[in-house]
Amino acid sequence: MKYNPAVDLQKSMHLSPYDGVNPSISDSSTFAFSRGDVMTDTFEGKREGCFLYSRHWNPTNHELSDALAAMEGTEAGWVTGSGMAAITSTILQICNSGDHIISSITTYGGTYAFFNNYLPKFNIDVTFVDITDLDAVRKAVRENTRVIYTETVTNPLLQISDIPELARISKEHGLKLVVDNTFTPMIFSPSKLGADVVVYSMTKFINGKSDCVAGAICGSKEFIGSLIDVHSGTAMLLGPVLDPFRAANIHKNLFTLHIRLQKHSENASFLAKKFKEHGLAVVYPGLEEHPGHDLMKRTMNPQFGFGGMISIDLGTTDRANELMVAMQEKGIGYLAVSLGYFKTLFSNSGKSTSSEVPEKIQKEMGLSEGLIRFSVGLDPDIEFTWQNIRKCLEEHGFVK
Ligand code: PLP
Repeated sequence: MKYNPAVDLQKSMHLSPYDGVNPSISDSSTFAFSRGDVMTDTFEGKREGCFLYSRHWNPTNHELSDALAAMEGTEAGWVTGSGMAAITSTILQICNSGDHIISSITTYGGTYAFFNNYLPKFNIDVTFVDITDLDAVRKAVRENTRVIYTETVTNPLLQISDIPELARISKEHGLKLVVDNTFTPMIFSPSKLGADVVVYSMTKFINGKSDCVAGAICGSKEFIGSLIDVHSGTAMLLGPVLDPFRAANIHKNLFTLHIRLQKHSENASFLAKKFKEHGLAVVYPGLEEHPGHDLMKRTMNPQFGFGGMISIDLGTTDRANELMVAMQEKGIGYLAVSLGYFKTLFSNSGKSTSSEVPEKIQKEMGLSEGLIRFSVGLDPDIEFTWQNIRKCLEEHGFVK
């Protein structure tokens, strides 16, 4: 039987300590101990079950982390103040000065900038590859390589990473496979496919309300323990912890994720087909002609569809801007970055969330300046939405 992360998440549900149906908020930065030696043991990581200080652990954050680990099928999790905090803490925990990383060239622009512009400070080198070219990945492995990094469905080109094969290459060479699953929570379970660490921007689909930034790291108990080690843990020492008020909110939203994803996927699939029928250059992994379609079908959890992200290419930034403004004026959605909101969001990737990637490299990787990335919303009548989009396309001469 196929894995169902929504069921495993549901199993993690429990009443709060005072029988509240929602997670309780532990509004404390510090916690009292009944004995000094218990405090010392907790500090030294020799004892579990006690809370020390909220930069290390907080009960509310712990509950959310446990729920995420249940959903992900990992031993443990830890929640961060942003998706970038999850990514940077993970990488800095695994890599030391002199190490090497292989990364998909197509990644979120902030991740690209961290790898390309920031890590050289620490003498950590990154080779960017087309992650769908497994030979290129193999050839990039060096003696000092520590990590293969990718996004399950890459931002913004929507390529599909072959997680089982990347995991095989990682294991062969003793590397860690780190996967950003922000675009496809539940749809993919990267750790079940062999990833060592799964990171999220919970700002997106997981929270689904566009009211905060947050992130998560899921992995082995040993890895999460190393992150919060008081002597050497990147999370403990750099301090990118999530506020417990936010953790409680996100936790509540997590339990509707499976339904939201199904609707995002259903609506995106509908629009992708319409864009295609009208002759637009559309990329959606649910379309049979998508180069990663079969791979996705083989490796996804099929209950949640092919996700809410679509791109279309109008050739130039000016054309992309013209359509996006027209769509916003018609109430179809917002010209805004980010994703996973209940309204449709659209942005011109090359000039926004991928603008950190130099234009020359954008061209090399096949990111057109006219690409519009859509995070399709939870519209109750997608046919009505489509008719409005069609009017915009026709009025501006993008389709006949
Ligand atoms: N990963 C992906 C795939 C993203 O799209 C983003 C943000 O857009 C991030 C990570 C960074 O997340 P955050 O903005 O929560 O730091």
